[in-house]
Amino acid sequence: MLKLNKMNIIKELPAIKKNVSLAEYTTFKIGGKAKYFFIAKTKEDLIKAIFVAKKLKLQFFILGGGSNLLVSDKGYNGLVIKTQNSNLEIRKKGTIINFFCGAGAPLAKLVLESIKNSAQGLEWAAGIPGTVGGAIFGNAGAFNESMSGNIEEVEVLDVRKTVIKKFKNKDCRFEYRKSFFKKNKNIIILSAKLKLKNGKRKKIKEIIKEHLEKRKKFQPLNYPSAGSVFVNPKTGLKTGEMIEKCGLKGKRIGKAKVSEKHANFIMNLGKAKEKDVKKLINLIKKRVKNKFGVILKEEIISI
Ligand SMILES: Cc1cc2nc3c(=O)[nH]c(=O)nc-3n(C[C@H](O)[C@H](O)[C@H](O)COP(=O)(O)OP(=O)(O)OC[C@H]3O[C@@H](n4cnc5c(N)ncnc54)[C@H](O)[C@@H]3O)c2cc1C
Repeated sequence: MLKLNKMNIIKELPAIKKNVSLAEYTTFKIGGKAKYFFIAKTKEDLIKAIFVAKKLKLQFFILGGGSNLLVSDKGYNGLVIKTQNSNLEIRKKGTIINFFCGAGAPLAKLVLESIKNSAQGLEWAAGIPGTVGGAIFGNAGAFNESMSGNIEEVEVLDVRKTVIKKFKNKDCRFEYRKSFFKKNKNIIILSAKLKLKNGKRKKIKEIIKEHLEKRKKFQPLNYPSAGSVFVNPKTGLKTGEMIEKCGLKGKRIGKAKVSEKHANFIMNLGKAKEKDVKKLINLIKKRVKNKFGVILKEEIISI
């Protein structure tokens, strides 16, 4: 085994950085520093960084757009690998339009290209920050649609077995905000093939505009956040409604505040700490359990 020291890791990954603030790389703008930080601009970079971490027995974390994360104030004592393999190739065959993209491709880029190419099917994703990899991992969705409806195939790296494999849609075991990848952290998403349909550009633009207007109206987009904090229960009231009925809209701990616009959003009013957000999360969970007997589950991921 190679001894982990600065020299070894720099030799293996010359572009690696040390002590990088993760707050800068999350939409919540919260979190301490990553001991090591590497930006993977290509699939090969991503694979190499994972192998180096494995070889050096260094824990690693794959960071996409950082839009679903609550990072510890203490930071991350390992290697954070940020995916920026944002390559995109579009192929048309009859009425089917396939997007072949790197895991680090921003959803926003795909939505923009879907308009340009009159490709219908990704309208729901407009306004969701983050990458394709992150959206597959959490089966991101909105307006009754989700990533699971677009995925044809996912290329992955099985870190334990050191092989690259292809997952068909059903292998991804998509459920509401869940996937196979969420339960199997050793399977890293490298790239994906999305299936869209030929549509009318005007109509696609109209739907996207409608969605974006709804987001602006109902979400606190003027403050840093990580989107919805909790998932919705399968039945009954939505999480936001339960939090509202507990009288917690506007509740503030430190610089973290429950949004008045959308009670399932916690906003960072500026320099909020992870511990402030955690305290709010625990308070919400306690109050909702007492009032409704519902145990809320976090959608955001803590590292
Ligand atoms: C204003 C706002 C609105 C939002 N609206 C929505 C919404 O409507 N619907 C919705 O579902 N979400 C929403 N979100 C949450 C978030 O944008 C999505 O969950 C998004 O898909 C996360 O992607 P990401 O690239 O930012 O992932 P990150 O936050 O970077 O990571 C999330 C998880 O995915 C893992 N991951 C990322 N890439 C890979 C990879 N290549 N291989 C393996 N694992 C990987 C990470 O390790 C981490 O565990 C919103 C967030 C904000 C801030």
